Amino acid sequence: MNALGQRIARLIQAQGPISIAQFMAVALHDPQNGYYATRDPFGRQGDFITAPEISQMFGELLGLWIAQCWHDQKRPEARLVELGPGRGTLMRDALRVIAQLMPEFLTKVEVVLVEASPTLTAIQKDTLAKSGANIGWTAQFDDSLVDKPLFLLANEFFDALPIHQFVKTERGWCERMVVLNADGALDFALTPEAVPSSLIPTHRDGAPTGAFYETAPGATALTQQIADIIARKGGAALIVDYGYGAQADFGETLQAVAAQKYAKVLEMPGDADLSAHVDFAALADVARESGAKAYGPVGQGELLEAIGIVQRAATLARGKLGSNPQIDGELERLILPDQMGTLFKALAIMPVSAPTPPGF
Ligand code: SAH
Repeated sequence: MNALGQRIARLIQAQGPISIAQFMAVALHDPQNGYYATRDPFGRQGDFITAPEISQMFGELLGLWIAQCWHDQKRPEARLVELGPGRGTLMRDALRVIAQLMPEFLTKVEVVLVEASPTLTAIQKDTLAKSGANIGWTAQFDDSLVDKPLFLLANEFFDALPIHQFVKTERGWCERMVVLNADGALDFALTPEAVPSSLIPTHRDGAPTGAFYETAPGATALTQQIADIIARKGGAALIVDYGYGAQADFGETLQAVAAQKYAKVLEMPGDADLSAHVDFAALADVARESGAKAYGPVGQGELLEAIGIVQRAATLARGKLGSNPQIDGELERLILPDQMGTLFKALAIMPVSAPTPPGF
């Protein structure tokens, strides 16, 4: 067991089983040993590669999307927020095209990066040093962000938010917890008592024994807050992540990844990334309940094609697709259905009165 695993074991010994959400929060964000707190996990040598790290086209097109929505809403004084900016690559590429297309954006829109990790904050400051934008940082989305129209980007952020897992048993739905087993190792176990049935949505009523239900209360609360600002003040949010659209099936989706391979969830807390599928239907529901309009989710490939990635790739390849294997490869990776094109999805949250956003 690694050092963080031993600390979690001592915590469970002292306090009893912890939820999977608590385990995720500690494994990802513990200040000493947490996964994001201590490292830069991205890129070809890292644990995983994200869309903005695959190609500059991703950030450029999301930047165009934001610029178009801002223009459609009459170019207000506003805030552009990115949740979990990683290395800052997406924002750098987005701001570069926005500055070319609508320089006025940089004078009227304040940029705020929401980042929990001090290590990644330092890298983002470096990446964005020459952006020309007015950029601030905050460790979490809070009330300082409610007073202006909110334009927001989030790529592979929501999948890192803690989830709870419930399993259908003969005695009802039980929560799956992290416990110490007879060998003193971290293990999963269900609560002996069923949880109150009000915790489980009615669309899960017919689930078979052994079925999972996953819920991310932090993700829904945050979406509610974002949608509420957009409904009242204006703005636009584009949430891109891997996840399910209509309705989740009965499996579980919590996964650990280290060195671009799957790892065991409990085996090396803090040394592997932990993530779970994003329940886009649940996020769209809370956005609507908050008085905003939700669009999608549509596949990442569909969105990027609709907003011009093929043309952009051709320009980068000096006018001819097929002439530059690197650009062709990046394009395929981002949009093909058997790569990131369909598993990754995009959800837009808009004011009810705003025009339909590009690509939806
Ligand atoms: N958007 C980037 C990085 C995705 S990884 C990209 O596409 O490359 C997830 C990012 O979210 C990291 O920057 C991580 O440190 C940050 N993060 C995860 N959970 C967070 C939380 N609860 N609060 C703030 N930032 C968080």
